[in-house]
Amino acid sequence: MKGVVIIGSGHAGCNTAINLRRAGFSESIKIFSKENYYPYHRPPLSKKFFKGDLTEENILLKNSTFYEDNNIEIHLNTFISEVDIKNNFIRTTSGDDYEFSYLVFATGTSSRVFADNMFPGIDIFYLRNIDDVKRIQTALTDNSKPLLIGGGYIGLELAASMQEMGHTVSIIELEDRLLKRVTAPIMSTFFQDLHESKGVNVLCNQSIQSIKVDKKGNYLVTTDNGTIIDTNILIAGIGAIPNDDLAQNAGIKCKNGILIDEYCRTNVPHVFAAGDCANGFNNLLGYSIRLESVPNANAQAKVVASSIIGNEDLNRELPWFWSDQYDLKLQMAGLSNGYDDVYIQGKIEDNAFIVCYGKEGNLIAVDSVNMPKIFNNYKKALSNGMRLSMELVSDSNFDPASLFSASY
Ligand SMILES: Cc1cc2nc3c(=O)[nH]c(=O)nc-3n(C[C@H](O)[C@H](O)[C@H](O)COP(=O)(O)OP(=O)(O)OC[C@H]3O[C@@H](n4cnc5c(N)ncnc54)[C@H](O)[C@@H]3O)c2cc1C
Repeated sequence: MKGVVIIGSGHAGCNTAINLRRAGFSESIKIFSKENYYPYHRPPLSKKFFKGDLTEENILLKNSTFYEDNNIEIHLNTFISEVDIKNNFIRTTSGDDYEFSYLVFATGTSSRVFADNMFPGIDIFYLRNIDDVKRIQTALTDNSKPLLIGGGYIGLELAASMQEMGHTVSIIELEDRLLKRVTAPIMSTFFQDLHESKGVNVLCNQSIQSIKVDKKGNYLVTTDNGTIIDTNILIAGIGAIPNDDLAQNAGIKCKNGILIDEYCRTNVPHVFAAGDCANGFNNLLGYSIRLESVPNANAQAKVVASSIIGNEDLNRELPWFWSDQYDLKLQMAGLSNGYDDVYIQGKIEDNAFIVCYGKEGNLIAVDSVNMPKIFNNYKKALSNGMRLSMELVSDSNFDPASLFSASY
């Protein structure tokens, strides 16, 4: 039996296999991973795992015996270098071929890296997998002075972790504010204030002009406005790019990721894609989007499994995401792009508030800091496609829990 071949063992790949078995799929399932670890949760890499509060064992998606118990063949340390969609087989770099009836791309993303000629001879670290964490941890000494290049989520989470570990952290961000791509100015200001209050040196609107190495191997980084940063380790979090070249070379349509419909099907009927590598149609939003989040990877994994067994569930997952920094839990639901109104529920100064984003009179997204219960009700409402007017949301007596109580 040829069965299902899944390339990638992250949240999307592993959960596709789990969902298939849960649904009673009895044909063979093979997962291929270029990493040498059983499938694991990636978010802790910049948080508790980075700080050493969780071990490799703690972050496994399933314990290693799960795969054998469920008849899921897992090939670790195996890179797939070629896919033939006419003859239905994949090829590993060692030249082994495996046939499939259904193929799933769950290849995720790779860290965006600086061009080789930008900072020649300078070691810059990136964070995407367990090996990256180990490399950074080895380079950190007691009281290091890390410089994080990029003020996005990974940069900020690492900044929080390293500051808590006793290092002296700086962040340099090209844009005029942190998290500019994903959130409103009010949240950027909140996070900048938070990090500065913990002792992080935040430099926005600046880029690296030159890096000099002193005799001790420390770096003197000069920014384009003349600021000099003394650092001994450089870590970049400057975005991610979808791993879609394998699919593209096989003749599958790609544009900022592997293009899929609401059933997670590519343009080739028996080939699917899920997770960070996929640019997929979302029925709730009514358009295609490539998201980098665990909830999206998990939701699409369910859809792929359903499509393979012939149930044809649709992808209508509300985009949502979380981030942990210091003792704060940030949760976001919906996409705030194009918002024209903002209402703040709770108190920013208490580190417990929700930013409600409105567009044309209705709520489109929320960002929550340490208010998980209220966040969950907003998330539920947005997931169900409820139209909540900003007038209602900004009424001081409004509690989103009331939307789901019997009396409403
Ligand atoms: C440090 C960090 C922190 C994060 N924190 C959060 C968070 O707090 N909340 C959140 O929602 N999301 C977070 N994310 C994003 C989240 O981890 C991703 O959205 C999620 O892992 C996507 O799952 P995936 O299965 O699509 O891809 P991945 O988890 O990236 O898995 C893809 C796998 O495919 C393998 N692969 C690729 N090409 C091949 C090939 N040719 N052959 C074999 N194997 C291959 C890769 O090595 C990788 O193991 C974080 C990401 C990082 C890096």
